[in-house]
Amino acid sequence: MSVVKLAPVFKDYLWGGTRLRDEFNKKCELEKVAESWELACHKQGGSTVASGINKGLSLEELIRLDKSVLGTSCSESDTFPLLIKLIDAKDDLSVQVHPDDEYALKVEGEPGKTEMWYVIDCDDDASLIYGFKDELSKEQFAQMIENGSLLDAVNKVKVHKGDVFFIPSGTLHAIGKGILIAEIQENSNTTYRVYDYGRVGADGKPRELHIEKAVEVTDTKPIKLRERYETIKADGCSFRLLEHCGYFSSAVFDVSQEVELCIDKRSFAHILFIEGSAKIASDEVLDAQKGDSFFIAAGTQSVRISGRCSFILTRNGFEEGFDRLVKEKP
Ligand code: ZN
Repeated sequence: MSVVKLAPVFKDYLWGGTRLRDEFNKKCELEKVAESWELACHKQGGSTVASGINKGLSLEELIRLDKSVLGTSCSESDTFPLLIKLIDAKDDLSVQVHPDDEYALKVEGEPGKTEMWYVIDCDDDASLIYGFKDELSKEQFAQMIENGSLLDAVNKVKVHKGDVFFIPSGTLHAIGKGILIAEIQENSNTTYRVYDYGRVGADGKPRELHIEKAVEVTDTKPIKLRERYETIKADGCSFRLLEHCGYFSSAVFDVSQEVELCIDKRSFAHILFIEGSAKIASDEVLDAQKGDSFFIAAGTQSVRISGRCSFILTRNGFEEGFDRLVKEKP
């Protein structure tokens, strides 16, 4: 196998909408679809193979058949490194923070979470929370949570389609209502909630807050937003580099006709279609449309993607750029 289509798991958190089902081809029975986990091997949900001879296996089982599909960057680690989601926030998400690896492994038994958001679509007046306006002491932070004034201290940022937010572990953040994003992150579901707008969960009770842990792990200095991400023109496509960190490297590709990718042995690749439709040709030819996800094994020499489309390509670990993955046409 070189390329397989993936089917996601869905989460119906209370703040979710219906756009993933209505606009992103996500067939599911849930009334609300807050998240679809597009690339996932996590105990709280995993992707399923949806094409080829291994159709029906979980992604985890598929990897167990031949671990080399992950690539050399994964060979020493036992756990799958990434989690990629589509998130449809019809309502505000809670204000939250994630611990770093050291803290999370010690306290929660799983990695911490550094994440990145790519804004696929948003309402005109949408905004989100990205760190603090000014530096606070830990005591001030704890006090503002306690007396309900935290929102006065957070950095509210207006959001536009195509914006990128890099959220290192320890950064206070919240997705605002009317935002649909792709989230690329470490394979972790550990979240410490500090403020939930006084809402109650499906059981009628306020959702749990994790104030003590949050104060411990939060970096209370403001974080600077990166202004520009470089766009590169290549044969038949252009692509914009998104964040490249020690955990993941991503780019968003705009294809006008066709692009041929060569995924070297360093890492597998995941592609998530966010616009248009395409055919993906490797061992077999697969149809892709907006919302679809594909896993590409490390070492896949040729993947031809033809059609008018946009997709986010992500690989494990740090990668300088993606130029050498794009084959030049003869
Ligand atoms: Zn988060």
